[in-house]
Amino acid sequence: MDSLQEDQTNWSCERCGTSVSARFVRVFGRGRSVYGCTQCLPSKALYAGAAARSGE
Ligand SMILES: [Zn+2]
Repeated sequence: MDSLQEDQTNWSCERCGTSVSARFVRVFGRGRSVYGCTQCLPSKALYAGAAARSGE
């Protein structure tokens, strides 16, 4: 049984593919996806909620 990682690893930014933590997704993303990260968005945009939307 190798299902331990399901809830905590291997998340990635939908915009640039950079690996991000589950916590990052929970804080900045929407559901199980995050549309931006510190590599592809300025922190100002992240905190404004840009990573929770796919259209920008
Ligand atoms: Zn990114």
